[in-house]
Amino acid sequence: MIDLRSDTLTRPTESMRQAMARADVGDDVYGEDPTVRLLEERVADLFGHESALFTPTGSMANVLAVRSLVAPGQEVLCESGAHIARAELGAHGAYTGLTMRTWIHPRGQVDLPVIQSIFAPDMGPFFVPTAAISVENTHNFAGGAVLPLADLRDLREWATGVGVRLHVDGARIWNAHVATGTPLRDYGAVADVMAVCLSKGLGAPVGSLMVGSSDTVAEARIWRKRMGGGMRQVGILAAAGLHALDHHLERLADDHTHARLLAEACGVDPSGVDTNIVVVSRSDAADFVAAAREAGVLVATVGPTAVRLVTHLDINTSDAERAAAVLARL
Ligand SMILES: *Cc1c(COP(=O)(O)O)cnc(C)c1O
Repeated sequence: MIDLRSDTLTRPTESMRQAMARADVGDDVYGEDPTVRLLEERVADLFGHESALFTPTGSMANVLAVRSLVAPGQEVLCESGAHIARAELGAHGAYTGLTMRTWIHPRGQVDLPVIQSIFAPDMGPFFVPTAAISVENTHNFAGGAVLPLADLRDLREWATGVGVRLHVDGARIWNAHVATGTPLRDYGAVADVMAVCLSKGLGAPVGSLMVGSSDTVAEARIWRKRMGGGMRQVGILAAAGLHALDHHLERLADDHTHARLLAEACGVDPSGVDTNIVVVSRSDAADFVAAAREAGVLVATVGPTAVRLVTHLDINTSDAERAAAVLARL
């Protein structure tokens, strides 16, 4: 089976497993796991922020990040297909007590005029005040679309002026960096707080980080423990993340090439495929998924008329070519 359902499906490589096996560890709730500390310092530095916090999932990193900006009874604005709005099972409402309003963009982009028109400054005891804006780069449900740095900078400038803060869901910020050559620090500079994942295209089995100021991360460390996310000798997992940063970052370009190949095979314009995700519109999405499975290719629906293909570390060029031939025939 060639599995294109998600880039979370990768299995740790042999050399990643070796790095995990020899990791130095300590009790991370005591702040004594040297490998976790190394990973946190490295990732904070990559984005030009003061500090970072290792979390079991990207969802937890997002919840910690957004709650650092938005108090109960305040709101965050995001695009309607955002992972925080659609795919975290209401965690931000359930844990933080915030509300969300959304703008709609078919490519998940920043739409500054619309954001400005729905933004609500503090108007006293009548309207929910907007505390933060969240953007997703790359945008998962918009097919791995990259948010251009210029748009992020315009948003940052306006947001600073009106006193609203910015969260970046950078689960796949690595793909945006490799696809565009934009330095990670430039992406970091537009965010007050970010979440990044090691367990997507980078191929680690577990792990994400929240990135922000020292104060924000110190507070998030308390909340992580409160939510049951305090972990102990977790350097064995952080070692997988460090290994992934050393060995699996630049190769994301291969995933992007493979995604364009699959797009062409499915009649999707490859110039609209920015990174490693292809969304194919099919009125018969469920039947298409079943037929692909029969032919040895696993793909997934992300809506009644949308099929998603995701390339990753465990798909090599010959897998991509074989899958392309199968999908073209279907
Ligand atoms: C995968 C993903 C996350 C985090 O997901 P977890 O499964 O909780 O690690 C967050 N945002 C986006 C855009 C994602 O694709």
